[in-house]
Amino acid sequence: MGGAPGAELEELVATRRDLHAHPELGYQEHRTAGIVAERLHALGYAVKAGVGGTGVVGVLAGAGDGGGRAHAGRTLLLRADMDALPIQEANETPYRSTTPGVMHACGHDAHVAIGLAVARRLAASRHQWRGTVKFAFQPAEEGGNGSEAMIRDGVLEAPAVDAAVGLHVMNTLPVGTVAATPGPIMGAVDKFTIRIRGRGGHAAMPHQAADPVLAAAHVVTALQSMVSRGTDPFDHLVVSVTQIRSGDAFNVIPEVAELSGTVRSLGGRSYDEAPARMSAIARGVAEALGCGAEVDYVRQTPATVNDETITALVARVAEEIVGRERVLTDARMLGGEDFSFFLRRVPGCFAWVGSANPVKGYDAPHHSPRFDIDEEAMLLGTELMERIAREYLR
Ligand SMILES: [Zn+2]
Ligand SMILES: [Zn+2]
Repeated sequence: MGGAPGAELEELVATRRDLHAHPELGYQEHRTAGIVAERLHALGYAVKAGVGGTGVVGVLAGAGDGGGRAHAGRTLLLRADMDALPIQEANETPYRSTTPGVMHACGHDAHVAIGLAVARRLAASRHQWRGTVKFAFQPAEEGGNGSEAMIRDGVLEAPAVDAAVGLHVMNTLPVGTVAATPGPIMGAVDKFTIRIRGRGGHAAMPHQAADPVLAAAHVVTALQSMVSRGTDPFDHLVVSVTQIRSGDAFNVIPEVAELSGTVRSLGGRSYDEAPARMSAIARGVAEALGCGAEVDYVRQTPATVNDETITALVARVAEEIVGRERVLTDARMLGGEDFSFFLRRVPGCFAWVGSANPVKGYDAPHHSPRFDIDEEAMLLGTELMERIAREYLR
């Protein structure tokens, strides 16, 4: 145990601020992973580094069954992601990033600090629980699918994982609140590139050319019908074209125009149909304007879908700590989260821990160069995760 809550918060803050000052991008979390491995080892965990690239796994068996038989009972995976983002920090705090262009702007520094504090608590209390706890300190959550890499490297096996729980600090929720929502809670992330091929020519003689720029403009507009006309109003779908690339000169009609963007959904019919729908619109519109279109559609991250039973357990434990009125069970967003890969394999829950405190100035959105959290949130995150583990591994 960290002793008094004050001492534990001090350690959480010290760990988080050290990581915050030394952020590392996905699959480059060498310093962070080193700290994690060293601390887990010192706490008595069996440690395996280099899992899924820079991931670290720490395993500990409870001794609550008296005999301390290894791997008796269930195995719970607790996940903390470790990576930072390619953002130049704009905060002026003493613990601001010392690495130019890299910043913990999503709160994964806090997740690592919480994970280590929970590991400490569970090691201290191992005679009071049975089964096995497996910590997955994960690389590359931000677009790198580090969870998938860890799964490929066997993190869900030996011992086989029965359930998985992960937390995210959340600046859209006030500190002192928790969200544990059953079912789909975060979006599937799809990526697309549409390549429109026309026929280049002189800008003053467009009738001799087939203009891919005009076709691209019509395709961007027509794609909006995927949501407004093609999706059940009670369903969820976002289509965002975020990049347009074409042309090298003001007086030349180019050969090619390229559009890229993302589609987000919570799964279901609109998710299933999105690639075919996009392809039909892009090809049809381009063809009508004398061009051709090819769509490259990539399913990057599946929707995050929480298991009913585990999520009920998480919500109940959260209510015990903060009271029923501070636990949300209907919060969702279409941002992506690669914890979804764990949830596709084993039942589990991805819960949010409120970290906003507008009075103290902590309410910048995630991925903003001014992102920072109310660090008190880490104490609640630690308490929540430890109690979930103790409850599941009783
Ligand atoms: Zn993020
Ligand atoms: Zn994140």
